[in-house]
Amino acid sequence: MQRHYRGGCQCGAVSFDVDLDLDQSVTCNCARCQPLGAVLAFAPRGRFVLHSGAENLTEYRFNQREIAHLFCKTCGIQSFSYGQMPDGSEMAAINVNTLKGVDPRALSPTHVDGASM
Ligand SMILES: [Zn+2]
Repeated sequence: MQRHYRGGCQCGAVSFDVDLDLDQSVTCNCARCQPLGAVLAFAPRGRFVLHSGAENLTEYRFNQREIAHLFCKTCGIQSFSYGQMPDGSEMAAINVNTLKGVDPRALSPTHVDGASM
């Protein structure tokens, strides 16, 4: 079920609102998600609102460079990234660990073998 969440980085510079269905969350073993321990959920870009911190984000791209991984340059936390869905529409990939009031360990994410993609 889709619900409204607030999230952000550790130091508070980056904050956002997003609508997500956490029953559709995923974990991934790619070169970035695994060391981060990220639990991800995806939203159309229109359901994601960045309230603060745009000027405080550093962008990192790797591999095919299609995903803009954005982390806070003050505290280092990556709370979201920008990319595209398979149909080409703009999306935001949210690090569920950075949502307020959510216990990611209570979720049952689907595991994605990103390392083999
Ligand atoms: Zn921060």
